[in-house]
Amino acid sequence: MSAPVKLLVVSVDAMHTDDIPFARTLPAFAQILQRASVAEIEGVYPSVTYPNHTAQTTGCPPATSGIFNNLQFQPGRGDTSEWFWDARAIRVPTIFAAAKAAGLSTAAVQWPVTANEQHVDHLVPEIASPQVFDGLEDQYRQTTDAATLHRYILPNLHLVHSDRRKGRYFDFVNHVSAEILRAERPDVMFVHLVEVDTARHAYGACGEHVHQALREVDATLGSYLEALAATGDLDRTNIAVVSDHGHVDTEQHTNLNTIFAERGFLRLDEEGGLVDWDVLCLGAGLSGQLFLAEGISPERRTQVEALLAELEADPVYRIEKIWPAAEARRVYGLDGPFEWVVESEPGVVVGMVTGRRPVVLRGDADYPGPVGAHGHAPRHGGQPVLIATGPSFTPGLDLGRRSMLDEAPTFAAVLGIDLPDAEGTIIEDLLRRRPGPAAGSTTPGPTDVGR
Ligand SMILES: [Zn+2]
Repeated sequence: MSAPVKLLVVSVDAMHTDDIPFARTLPAFAQILQRASVAEIEGVYPSVTYPNHTAQTTGCPPATSGIFNNLQFQPGRGDTSEWFWDARAIRVPTIFAAAKAAGLSTAAVQWPVTANEQHVDHLVPEIASPQVFDGLEDQYRQTTDAATLHRYILPNLHLVHSDRRKGRYFDFVNHVSAEILRAERPDVMFVHLVEVDTARHAYGACGEHVHQALREVDATLGSYLEALAATGDLDRTNIAVVSDHGHVDTEQHTNLNTIFAERGFLRLDEEGGLVDWDVLCLGAGLSGQLFLAEGISPERRTQVEALLAELEADPVYRIEKIWPAAEARRVYGLDGPFEWVVESEPGVVVGMVTGRRPVVLRGDADYPGPVGAHGHAPRHGGQPVLIATGPSFTPGLDLGRRSMLDEAPTFAAVLGIDLPDAEGTIIEDLLRRRPGPAAGSTTPGPTDVGR
């Protein structure tokens, strides 16, 4: 059974509301924006990709979803720490599960935390932890269904670039997502495009490089509009262009694990490998999460707390606040298996490396980059977008500032399904009411959202 209306959600990773005026000059964005309603979105903290994309499919913040960082906490693994790639790490139902339960067909391409997601019919998961698998083919064989693997993934693997600077997955994702949209005509499809985020990391939050990346995204959006027109689905497809966080330009790295090592709170071997630790930082870009060793003595814990108070008070480290996890949960909806959340000043990377200087400033010869970053508290920097157009959405509204947690319940309402665990609320003013019988309209019915 095919749904009366469809939903296509395209995440343009790290798109800012400030990008909209330029986007209006591009053909596909212009077509989408022409009758769209637009909101500025307050994302979840930390403003990194995986917690926010999970919020967009669950309506839940990290404290509830379990996706508190891009990275899993795997002490001692350093650069080989795994990302949260497996969907089974999400502790609440997703919109994919709700859609499947309602008999809708589903697709997801490069959407974070979707590997092994059982409720996506056509699944091309994003895998940022290639070290877990025995090569590219194996990473998909182990994480998606045979039909998608043979029909869409294997024939297009040559489009995955070995050179990361070319955007390893850009061509593959753009091609495969348009193919699935055209051939499978899913009722619900989520796609994640990372061109804009990649450009901002490399060259900073603003500039011509962002325009170029938006042009590339526009070409992909154009291919979706073309596919929908070709299948006759354009008029009944709701399109939401969303983003997950903004960027700010970086100014400093504050390398907390280096400081912990220097002060004797973590111990390294001669190669710099982690031996053991009392307190350890897991970075989330422009914020961090501090883990305490299990079974730490009350005396040692007090010493850790004294060190943290000292770091927080010393302006050289540029730490705005170190939140106890319970307080971060109350204020930001952020919690996890850590004890504290380190909120740095905007532009300050909370580094987790050892073997560098405790503080490295932009302009120093050993400044490692990136030029732009995120992970900061969501009130800072460029703000994410929600651009919504289609038969179920009221056109032309400026919706002001809304919570990212409201996106998933609103998408669910469009599809006539329910997400009872979502902590956000439906953006009612965005939704067009079903015409009543008195209207005598034969327009294909926007979903009934009057609940
Ligand atoms: Zn992102």
